[in-house]
Amino acid sequence: MSLEELIESATELIVRSRHMIALTGAGVSAESGIPTFRGPNGLWRKFKPEELATPEAFRRNPRLVWEWYAWRIGLVLKATPNPAHYALAELEKLGILKCLITQNVDDLHERAGSRSVVHFHGEILFARCTSCGFRLKWSEPPSEIPPRCPKCGSLLRPDVVWFGEPIPEEALRRALHEASRADVILVVGTSGVVQPAGSIPYIVKEHGGTVIEVNVEESAITPVADVFLRGKAGEVLPKLVTAVKRKLGKRGKE
Ligand code: NAD
Ligand code: ZN
Repeated sequence: MSLEELIESATELIVRSRHMIALTGAGVSAESGIPTFRGPNGLWRKFKPEELATPEAFRRNPRLVWEWYAWRIGLVLKATPNPAHYALAELEKLGILKCLITQNVDDLHERAGSRSVVHFHGEILFARCTSCGFRLKWSEPPSEIPPRCPKCGSLLRPDVVWFGEPIPEEALRRALHEASRADVILVVGTSGVVQPAGSIPYIVKEHGGTVIEVNVEESAITPVADVFLRGKAGEVLPKLVTAVKRKLGKRGKE
């Protein structure tokens, strides 16, 4: 089937859905200039995740880990949402998309207008104190590396989930609840290999839901995808939203 025909199938599923959710990964922000970890041009081609995004790495070398995060914080602050972020925000405004679970630590979904966002892996623009829990938001990358808590002087850490760390309780609870009631999940730009996030589409499937996937290449989610839309998120999602609006318009006249 051509991409146009596949978009038509996905559109039909979307307009018929009663509770559609989305799961996004680093691929959604790739076209905003924020590198992914895996896939074409992934970050990990240059760095190993185990060397930087773990509690052990931070204990061993907080300066190295913070240098890497300060660089990524700078990228996020400079980046702007791309058509993929806007398309997802529009699906929410249309009343179709009920919840967006993101593995991304950037804030581009919110800046594009999405409101119902679950940050499964935390938020890179926030730091928290390793001893008193004080939390702050960066409006520019930290100048002192590693940065210290303004309240107690202890080390700050990025407020993200590192490999080997548990998912924040509330985010996990909401994501599992949404996955168990969703009849359609739109999965965009994730390799699906980071767990437990990668299980979310499988949970939807086990509950009888349908999986629509958008990715430039096949992923660990593709085996359960009912419709696989191959292409860049920033190109495929706007086409999908246009098709959904056209179909909704026709329905309105029926
Ligand atoms: P990943 O790096 O493992 O996978 C990225 C996926 O996106 C790949 O499957 C790739 O084929 C696909 N992709 C690349 N460009 C695309 C495009 N233009 N359109 C559609 N798909 C595209 O990312 P992940 O699955 O999110 O998991 C890795 C972890 O990386 C997450 O925990 C996340 O916190 C972290 N991360 C976040 C960001 C961010 O916040 N922007 C960036 C890098 C990594
Ligand atoms: Zn403190």
